[in-house]
Amino acid sequence: MKGKLYIVATPIGNLEDITLRAINILKEVDLIAAEDTRHTLKLLNHLGIKKAMISYQRHNEEVKKDVIINKILDGQNVALVSDAGTPGISDPGEEIVKESIKNKIEIIPIPGACALINALICSGMDTKEFYFLGFLPLNKKNRQEKIEIIKNENKTGILYEAPHKLKNTLKELKEILGDRKIVLAKELTKIHEEFIYDNIDDIINSNKEIKGEYVIIIEGNSKIKNNDFENMDIKEHYLFYEKQGLNKNDIIKKIAKDRKVHKNEIYKLFI
Ligand code: SAM
Repeated sequence: MKGKLYIVATPIGNLEDITLRAINILKEVDLIAAEDTRHTLKLLNHLGIKKAMISYQRHNEEVKKDVIINKILDGQNVALVSDAGTPGISDPGEEIVKESIKNKIEIIPIPGACALINALICSGMDTKEFYFLGFLPLNKKNRQEKIEIIKNENKTGILYEAPHKLKNTLKELKEILGDRKIVLAKELTKIHEEFIYDNIDDIINSNKEIKGEYVIIIEGNSKIKNNDFENMDIKEHYLFYEKQGLNKNDIIKKIAKDRKVHKNEIYKLFI
């Protein structure tokens, strides 16, 4: 009989943030596939668990996933963990899940800590609708394209960022978004946990020391949220309707109506 794949969330700082079910699964499985076995060993030692481990990192995901899948097909139960939080969320996991689905292996989530959710729930921003972009791409052009998406999105946005890149990323956000409200959720669940609620500019100018791990929460574009066409630039206005699936002609007609101008004036701008 085939084994099962458990996707087990582990703490993002505070070692008490692990569920009883997660502990039991880590005790019961035959093998733990860990992003960094040395890192996970510290957690297992803390929990008094001794278990065989295999490394499953981004750079060896392709090869290791086959090794792990074969073990599951041979009947072993495997728990996948990452260094912190929920596997697959800006961490390895996606590939082995896809391969498990192909092999009709049962996949069982064991819920727990996830930095983006904990940052969001304390952000004071709209939690009804939000989107997560993970880490921005390294390539400058691709980064700017992603930030353009944020600019024209009315939902709350969530980003991960490495501490040494945070200041620079805030400056890039400021350049494209203007002075938007953001929340920095710092060192969640750890001793120096802090929520910084401010405008991007004030945070950049505060010269606060950037140390530790951060989640960036970005308020949705309120102009788009409130259909505030008068204060939108023409590109924002166009994107507003484009997102609703309208074609170019209909968008131009709508913009002209909203702005109380003849549609030819708007046509000219888009030729
Ligand atoms: N899988 C993890 C999760 O479920 O949140 C995310 C791993 S990702 C490689 C690491 C990034 O998550 C960090 O750069 C930071 O943006 C965010 N992060 C992780 N732990 C955090 C914490 N304790 N406080 C704030 N941000 C954290």
